[in-house]
Amino acid sequence: MNGSSLSPQSDKSMTNLTELTIAEMQAGLRTGDFSSRELVQAALDRLSKVEPALHAFLYIASEEALAAAAEADKKRKSVGATGQFPLLGIPIAVKDVLTVEDLPCTAGSKILEGYVPPFTATSVTRLKDAGAVIIGKTNNDEFAMGSSTEHSAYGYTHNPWDLTRVPGGSSGGSAASVAARCVPAALGTDTGGSVRQPASLCGVTGLKTTYGRVSRFGLIAFGSSLDTVGALGRTAEDVAQIFSAMAGRDELDATSADMPVPEINFDGDALRGLKIGVPKEYFISGIQPEVEEKTRTAIQQLKELGAEIREISLPHTEYALPVYYIIAPAEASANLARFDGIRYGPRVDADNLWDVFFKTRGQKFGPEATRRIMIGTYALSTGYYDAYYGQAQKVRTLIKQDFEAAFRDVDLIAAPTAPETAFKIGEHVDDPLAMYLEDVFTLPASLAGVPGISFNCGFDKNHLPIGLQLIGPYFREDLLLRVTHAYQQVTDWHKQSPKL
Ligand code: GLN
Repeated sequence: MNGSSLSPQSDKSMTNLTELTIAEMQAGLRTGDFSSRELVQAALDRLSKVEPALHAFLYIASEEALAAAAEADKKRKSVGATGQFPLLGIPIAVKDVLTVEDLPCTAGSKILEGYVPPFTATSVTRLKDAGAVIIGKTNNDEFAMGSSTEHSAYGYTHNPWDLTRVPGGSSGGSAASVAARCVPAALGTDTGGSVRQPASLCGVTGLKTTYGRVSRFGLIAFGSSLDTVGALGRTAEDVAQIFSAMAGRDELDATSADMPVPEINFDGDALRGLKIGVPKEYFISGIQPEVEEKTRTAIQQLKELGAEIREISLPHTEYALPVYYIIAPAEASANLARFDGIRYGPRVDADNLWDVFFKTRGQKFGPEATRRIMIGTYALSTGYYDAYYGQAQKVRTLIKQDFEAAFRDVDLIAAPTAPETAFKIGEHVDDPLAMYLEDVFTLPASLAGVPGISFNCGFDKNHLPIGLQLIGPYFREDLLLRVTHAYQQVTDWHKQSPKL
């Protein structure tokens, strides 16, 4: 890690720099209060302080980031503060399932140890084109399979609010690095909840985009019909900036939607006259009582801001978990077939090609990836395909239709993000079903492909953050962000930071 020294006088302001939101960083860069190099140096200093306790990163790109920041400062001088580079000089972290040219990328797996991709994910390219400086790659569950980062082959990440607890997953490193004030924002990916659930457990704002809204080019595939790229930040305003920079059609991803990306305007009354549905299936027994209490209070606050609240029903919700845990492993088993010791990463040598595949895969995939490959291969095998994958896809359509029907009556849906606050490291790691249950409230929106957001709406008795989830109709990220912003204007849960 780079530790260039700072003058004693700048020490104080440097500490404060990491407390700034993107909007505040932009203001300071504009007025010349500090440079991008100082911002990036402050982030690196913060990392050298907290990273030993957190382990939020798999790779810190100190030198590359400082060089990019110096470039950004030069550019600002030559072209002035321009709308063309809205994120000029802003430090951002990237989940390690997204490729960045010349930076190691492992997806949290030993099967990609030492792999250095020769290309950059479109989501990241677009952030860089907007001027952002990539600080490093964040930790995640192996191939984004998990809800705690404990399935990373490189060790788990700790929750900044309580180091004995998980940050959620699979984008746990991204969520922890934002919560711990290392970076103002980070990219994550959400296949079944991996942006929203860690955002909830770490008390930050996390947006899961509509399927197809952001290019998946350069995202190491997990469940191709479910994978989405999203953003985590402290405020809806900051997340909106990342979203606007990366969304939109990309020729390199045929499933990316050719839909206009609206300018997100935070003026006016986002909630006046808005109808918000509260699905009764999301307040089930077994949910932590404080989660129910705080999310209901937050929904009440949305009502006070002008929304009309209605109870609704999403009748097929209970099938989301079994359906997801057929479809996602089935697609994963196909996607992970490419990791064979020949094309990427390390190889375990053997006498013949077959044994090379066998040994490399047997030794380099971790237990969760192996479990999913086995379940998925079984579900797709001849004779079982119709009974499992085919049937699951049919039920998936019913889940999607639940949302379509609901959005004929309401504008948004509000519910808890996760059934409980951050759990203890080790608590669920040996019990796959308990781990899978963590996603019970995030999976339905993923199966339907609709966007969702999670933001902090209070704390439990252990001072662990609780997330409220809003789910919107296809391509209405703007509405989710506007409503979250309105809530954040009248509350300050999102301003609280963990003591580290
Ligand atoms: N926790 C879920 C899983 O393990 C979702 C992961 C994700 O969204 N990437 O599949």
